[in-house]
Amino acid sequence: MIDLKTFEVWFITGSQNLYGEETLRQVAEHSKHIAAGLDRAGQIPVRVVYKPVVKSTEEIYQTLQEANVAPNCIGIITWMHTFSPAKMWIRGLNILQKPMLHLHTQYNRDIPWSSIDMDFMNLNQSAHGDREFGFMVSRLRKNRKVVVGHWQDNGVLDEINSWARAAAGWHDWQGAKFARFGDNMRFVAVTDGDKVEAETKFGFSVNTYGIGDLVAVIDSISEAEVTALTDEYESLYTMDASLLKGGAGYSSVYEAAKIELGLKKFLQDGGFKGFSDTFEDLHGMVQLPGIASQRLMEAGYGFAGEGDWKTAALVRAFKVMGSGLAGGNAFMEDYTYHFDPSNELVLGSHMLEIDSSLASGKPALEVHPLGIGGKADPARLVFNVAGGNALNASLIDMGNRFRLLVNEVVAVEPEHDLPKLPVARVLWKPLPDMKTGCAAWIYGGGAHHTAYSQNLSAELLQDFADMAGIEFLRIGKDTTIAGFRNELRWNEVAYK
Ligand code: MN
Repeated sequence: MIDLKTFEVWFITGSQNLYGEETLRQVAEHSKHIAAGLDRAGQIPVRVVYKPVVKSTEEIYQTLQEANVAPNCIGIITWMHTFSPAKMWIRGLNILQKPMLHLHTQYNRDIPWSSIDMDFMNLNQSAHGDREFGFMVSRLRKNRKVVVGHWQDNGVLDEINSWARAAAGWHDWQGAKFARFGDNMRFVAVTDGDKVEAETKFGFSVNTYGIGDLVAVIDSISEAEVTALTDEYESLYTMDASLLKGGAGYSSVYEAAKIELGLKKFLQDGGFKGFSDTFEDLHGMVQLPGIASQRLMEAGYGFAGEGDWKTAALVRAFKVMGSGLAGGNAFMEDYTYHFDPSNELVLGSHMLEIDSSLASGKPALEVHPLGIGGKADPARLVFNVAGGNALNASLIDMGNRFRLLVNEVVAVEPEHDLPKLPVARVLWKPLPDMKTGCAAWIYGGGAHHTAYSQNLSAELLQDFADMAGIEFLRIGKDTTIAGFRNELRWNEVAYK
């Protein structure tokens, strides 16, 4: 549902009029060739669009101003084929509001040893032209991503891919709307935060809607629509005979399907990209949405439970950034530990709502009591999740700033059946190890709720945090508690 090819990155080459017509003609030709190469590259999920070479303060200002307002432009790639005196860039960079990648590349990969002359040197100057440009970006304290290497190199293309995906997630947040049904779970701290500051910083709004209004939409769904969806459930999931049409438990499945359709209609009609709910505020609803939340996440909506709007928004951004990649992005919660010294593990899950895009194999649709909330037994999808590299990310409000905290993990295949656990679950080992990973997470103030990703890297999330201008902390294979605590201490000063 999220097609990244609708987004554009503008390829902008800097130069100056000093060189004369013939050199500038070659600059333009080479730039077109590079932009077309990037546009065609399989690794890059968005369009790369060539823009005429900019050679003066006015041209730079005008092009960057156009980038700011172009609705599909999610960012710019800059490159100085020749020298482009950087005072010319001050006005433009000062107004630039889109993410920027500075591609420190060169048209030719190799030096043509036998033919190189001063004309060649005059044209191929990025080694010093990009340094002049880089100084100005640093001088203006602008965040950007610097990528170094030949533009056809696979590693370079991978870095551009990663940045472009971060830019797509960032772009998707601008003007995005998230609906909250009910407030945060009573007395819970980490899932709460400053929604005004979030809208200022991140560009998305979070507003509350009465459960009664949602219930009215759910009640408007026709029996035919609900039956069509329960048919779909029966075709997609393993279900006990009692839950099939005519069975004693079918009414629970029917209610769950009706809730899914009502929620989906509410979100579509309001133009929302995600939502949160809470088991403490379900007045008029028959069940807490279980399978509804799971399948809406699978369809691309952001979600987090207990009113956790920050995680819901983060899950949505993850879905955009991971669009088209193998693996899923999901709402997750650190639930229970396995402290066996020979095989330490975290079991991640939630009461109900684990995104079915993570499922390995065919999910089972089951109905069980919830134990809290006092509502009817909710339907949910139960499944295991595959092993492999993954990460958990938490967006928290530190009072004077937002922090994005990431822990890289290695997920492991389940070694045991869990016949009495009626929820989807994931097992993982935090990096660098259980003790360090968990301790660093707690020192960093990370939440129990996270966005869990099977296909996004910590580097990509660093780019994303830079676009937002927020603090980024990574817990990975090289993390030590001493080093991490120092980083926290120093960041307190950096963000004062
Ligand atoms: Mn929770």
